[in-house]
Amino acid sequence: MSFFKTMEPNEKGSTNTSQGNIEHVKCLILGSGPAGLTAAIYASRANLSPVLYEGMEPGGQLTTTTDVENFPGYPEGIKGPEMMEDLKKQALRFGADIRFGLATQADISHRPFKITIDETKVIEAEALIISTGATAQYLGLESEERFKGQGVSACATCDGFFYRGQDVAVVGGGDTATEEALYLSGLCRKVYLIVRKDYLRASKVMQERVLNTANIEVLFGHVTKEIVGNDMGVTGAILTNSKGEEVNINISGFFTAIGHKPNSDIFKPALHTDEVGYIKTIPGSSKTNIPGVFACGDVQDPHYRQAITAAGSGCMAAIDTERFLGEVGSHS
Ligand code: NDP
Repeated sequence: MSFFKTMEPNEKGSTNTSQGNIEHVKCLILGSGPAGLTAAIYASRANLSPVLYEGMEPGGQLTTTTDVENFPGYPEGIKGPEMMEDLKKQALRFGADIRFGLATQADISHRPFKITIDETKVIEAEALIISTGATAQYLGLESEERFKGQGVSACATCDGFFYRGQDVAVVGGGDTATEEALYLSGLCRKVYLIVRKDYLRASKVMQERVLNTANIEVLFGHVTKEIVGNDMGVTGAILTNSKGEEVNINISGFFTAIGHKPNSDIFKPALHTDEVGYIKTIPGSSKTNIPGVFACGDVQDPHYRQAITAAGSGCMAAIDTERFLGEVGSHS
């Protein structure tokens, strides 16, 4: 193996260094959704020479949605992938070093933090911003995959508006599913809530609200077998009830709300998470239990999960990082 040392000055003259397969950087950002890219914009402008690895899904969850109509500043709305491309361009403009690659291992017990990318390259970072997001869970049906972005969605707040006045279904029985069903009931003509058990797991108050909403029909003991549609999108779903009988519903939107999985596995157990895996941050900040490691976006947010809240927390993480490095000093 050949060992070489390179200096990589960014536009503002600060440097990250590399030796062989190990590179030393001041600020490493993992993830390229609104949180990571906003952190990259702020960190570049603060002269932290951030290096960002895009992760498994460059651009994050928004690249799987069509129109984004609730992000402030876009009166006509914008396509999710286009918005992420713009955010990326904005980060690049200020000198962020954005790379393709996935963090596969993390040793964050002490600084500098060592993050392995794609099982091969090691990045040593003075400060780490984790914005690896959360992955919405889907049922795993082939037909569900086919209609993603064309009637199948995992976010009613993002996509519900497109189905106003129409009939839709939500699958799941937890707080998210009941919340999504209630949100959609204000927009849609009818909402089916498909629950695989004969009871809801959601909190009592949410259960009561759902059961008392006239245009929500809860289908207890029903399992989705297939989502059906045509070139225009979803037209219905085939379910099976607890007696094994087939039940057909006509819908144009199918929303999964069966949980999210935060992408935090490689940072455990050093980093404190809740039982689901959401990284715990000190309220009002992006600080984790490890000084110098910051978390932003959906990987630490079980509640809001919006592009705008993710972007806001990315800004917080960059500012917290800048202050941290200012206090402890950086070796880069
Ligand atoms: P949960 O894990 O609580 O619920 C998931 C639901 O999806 C369950 O009803 C589960 O069914 C169902 N499910 C899972 N897999 C499948 C499948 N393959 N087919 C059909 N149904 C399936 O996830 P949530 O996202 O609802 O909530 C996560 C956490 O966030 C919870 O702690 C919740 O309380 C919290 N939360 C709080 C909110 C608030 O306070 N406003 C809002 C939203 C969430 P089963 O019950 O049969 O396992």
